[in-house]
Amino acid sequence: MTGRAVTSLSNPTVKAVRALHLRKERDETGLFVAEGLKNVIEGVDTGHAPTILLYGRDAADHPLLRKAAQATAAAGGEVIEVTQDILAKVSRRDNPQAVVGVFQQVFRPLDTLEPLAAPCWVALHRVRDPGNLGTIVRTADAAGCGGVILVGECCDPYSVEAVRATMGSIFAVPLTRASESEFAAWREAWPGSVVGTLLSAPIDHRSADYRKPALILMGNEQQGLPPEMAALCDVNVKIPMRGRADSLNLSVATGIMIYAATA
Ligand code: SAM
Repeated sequence: MTGRAVTSLSNPTVKAVRALHLRKERDETGLFVAEGLKNVIEGVDTGHAPTILLYGRDAADHPLLRKAAQATAAAGGEVIEVTQDILAKVSRRDNPQAVVGVFQQVFRPLDTLEPLAAPCWVALHRVRDPGNLGTIVRTADAAGCGGVILVGECCDPYSVEAVRATMGSIFAVPLTRASESEFAAWREAWPGSVVGTLLSAPIDHRSADYRKPALILMGNEQQGLPPEMAALCDVNVKIPMRGRADSLNLSVATGIMIYAATA
């Protein structure tokens, strides 16, 4: 395959893709970067055509690259062959993926979510770590959750690190943002159980009533769930811990809760 070839790091499109490492730039453009042919194809197969597709010579003859390039061109995007050096700078890695796609971010408005469409939904209060967030999106996808709701000030699900951790699930799981007060008001009409997670809760997570659709509320990595958020839940539960660890990693705890709620 032969697309337009670019070798200069000062090319405006290359500069624009590199700038998407900055949250400010992602927020202003509404774009994000997904690396690797598998992830780009995941985007294409779920109806998200890249606005820009960069590829290295090594990937030029791959049939799936042709498919991604056709989808990009059909949507009016740019397809560009770049050097290994450009791919390394764009990915900030010595061994970059041979394909990089730029996609449009999607956030669903809270009032458009359909709770009954899935047995379990996840709400994260002030999640800080992009690796945790990406891993949770991947687990939510694997378990068939309806979506992930980011409550309060959270890290960016579209950062390169978070997107990497989703392993392609960024395209499959609906994401929503809400302030604490918007979430509190919306939760009033939730048709199933709202289950919070607290280290101080007396109830074992295995004995809670996960009336479907269950909405699982998880706390921040440092502070946990504050009392005003825990008070929004029908029940708060604890995952038992038997050793000396005083808590579980947020993404691990979320995985345990999702599978308990969907068992
Ligand atoms: N120091 C924090 C605290 O006091 O809650 C620890 C937060 S923990 C690392 C991050 C989140 O993971 C918690 O807010 C909770 O949602 C969940 N979590 C971690 N371990 C848990 C457990 N054993 N039971 C229930 N939730 C847990």
